[in-house]
Amino acid sequence: MSMLKVDNLNVYYGSIHALKGVSLHVDQGEIVTLIGANGAGKSTLLKTLSGLLKPKEGTIEYLNDSIAGKQAQAIVKAGISHVPEGRRVFADMSVEENIELGAFLRKDKAGIQQDFQKVYEIFPRLHERRKQSAGTLSGGEQQMLAMGRAILARPKLLLLDEPSMGLAPLMVKTIFQVVKDINQEGTTILLVEQNANMALSIANRAYVIETGRVILSGTAEELHASEEIKNAYLGGH
Ligand code: ATP
Repeated sequence: MSMLKVDNLNVYYGSIHALKGVSLHVDQGEIVTLIGANGAGKSTLLKTLSGLLKPKEGTIEYLNDSIAGKQAQAIVKAGISHVPEGRRVFADMSVEENIELGAFLRKDKAGIQQDFQKVYEIFPRLHERRKQSAGTLSGGEQQMLAMGRAILARPKLLLLDEPSMGLAPLMVKTIFQVVKDINQEGTTILLVEQNANMALSIANRAYVIETGRVILSGTAEELHASEEIKNAYLGGH
């Protein structure tokens, strides 16, 4: 059974038709990646799934419930967390307070404490800076912080928008390992990535989006082997 099923989704920004009949599904336990050039509509899709944008047409079923057009808060409560692109931290709050926000729906104090330790083990830099205001972190550090918050949220479905953006190569590796770990601990993941090579290396399946439409889908191995994908998204390798 699919955890998430999107059918014929159409989303507009005023007169701009950003998603044109997108259909896809994500099964429980999977890592599914969305690949596409700048402006293809990847972020628009994640924003629509998390309730930040409302579709004009189409359905979104999540755990057998229709969530299209629901309030973002209700969607978070239902177990979907969205880590948006770029620096989305609360600048005036400390690093620690920002991470803690991820746990706002949880009551299991011991579990929260454990997850805090885990975040600090994965990202020692965040531990060093835990009392510092989040606005003073570098772009890459803010990206780590957003991931840390997501770990504390323990969602059923995690929507990740370009988690590797702006990170040094070593950190990119760490982030992808973290994504894999989160998945192995039971979180289903929908991952938007410019780094198609890395994304395909950890994903089960992938969808390719071009100017608002899904133009190709398949298992990660299939897409990795496809000449079309190699030339367009994997730098010809
Ligand atoms: P990138 O990889 O560059 O982040 P993307 O695939 O995530 O790209 P989207 O951000 O979803 O692309 O944008 C899809 C299209 O919608 C683009 O043509 C973009 O210009 C347009 N768009 C996005 N946000 C808005 C907005 N707030 N108002 C008007 N048009 C928008």
